[in-house]
Amino acid sequence: MHINAHSHLLPEPGQIPAFMVDKGVFSIDADRKFMRQGSWSRPVTDPSFFLREKLEWMEHNHIDHCVVLNLSQLYCNGMERNLCHDVIRFQNDFNAGLQADHAHKFTGGFVVQPNHLEDALKEIERCVNTLNLSVLCLPTHFLDANHQWRSVADPWCEPIFELANHYKLAVEIHPYDGEEIIALQDKFWRFHLVWMCALTADTYHFFTLYDWPNKYPHIRTCFAHGNQFGQVNLGRRIQGFEGRPDLFEGAVHPRNHARDENVFFDTLVHDVLSFELLLKRQGCDQIVAGLDDPYPLGEMDTVPGCYPGKILDQALSEKIITREEHQSIWHDNVIRWLGKKIF
Ligand SMILES: [Zn+2]
Repeated sequence: MHINAHSHLLPEPGQIPAFMVDKGVFSIDADRKFMRQGSWSRPVTDPSFFLREKLEWMEHNHIDHCVVLNLSQLYCNGMERNLCHDVIRFQNDFNAGLQADHAHKFTGGFVVQPNHLEDALKEIERCVNTLNLSVLCLPTHFLDANHQWRSVADPWCEPIFELANHYKLAVEIHPYDGEEIIALQDKFWRFHLVWMCALTADTYHFFTLYDWPNKYPHIRTCFAHGNQFGQVNLGRRIQGFEGRPDLFEGAVHPRNHARDENVFFDTLVHDVLSFELLLKRQGCDQIVAGLDDPYPLGEMDTVPGCYPGKILDQALSEKIITREEHQSIWHDNVIRWLGKKIF
């Protein structure tokens, strides 16, 4: 049984509401070749961006179930309150419909925008109680009312985490918007290849220093892309914490938060040596299979030599994990993160 804990899905062009297209929030060309947001666009690189083809892709690749996160383009950072409310609602209704229509195939994630905190809390209530959703998706960073970027592991967001803890939700923390946050020229895909990993490590830095895995024990939080930079970075954080204790008033030691039982990481690191570090640092129980499909940075066979599940097969054949561990990462661990049975 294979469960993919990190997947994305596009609506059909005709399913996107006119207000989103008209305001340049998000659209997909009628021929399904490009997705667009204002002046930004990217090619649709695989048919499995869409539902029917996603189901075929799952069948073909022996993937039984996918956790469909929100579209990163719809985090609504910096968006005005009313428009944000409507866009978030569209995304969450879409994923709830997907889960309701295909309960065996999909678990839908829902997203909220932390800047509009009151609306975010109401939306959590609606998604949990009305839409039957239980995976809360958060951006690593959001733009506050003073146009300052903040980590989602910021005291401002504590009411969100308190409510998530109350409902015992699975939480996914996923990076985006690097080019808005980092003042560098957009070249060689640096924001996806370098800065996204740094953004995730940055939020993990605060999440653990604030002791949130202990403060919110009923939340099970998964960091996207294996929190790859955060795994390699632990020694430096410990050195800094011990070398300059004056900078860490009220924070807990970074070493306290290796192998937290309620913190998970997906397998999306594209490098078996990096996977081995993740395994040794966090333990097998904290790792969930995540493909980040259908993007070309996911484990996709649109990239030469790649296929869904490649890193886990490599780790197995190089005896870094056992056959049982391989199975746990594909199934049992994902179930523990989700906190629900699927079949
Ligand atoms: Zn993703």
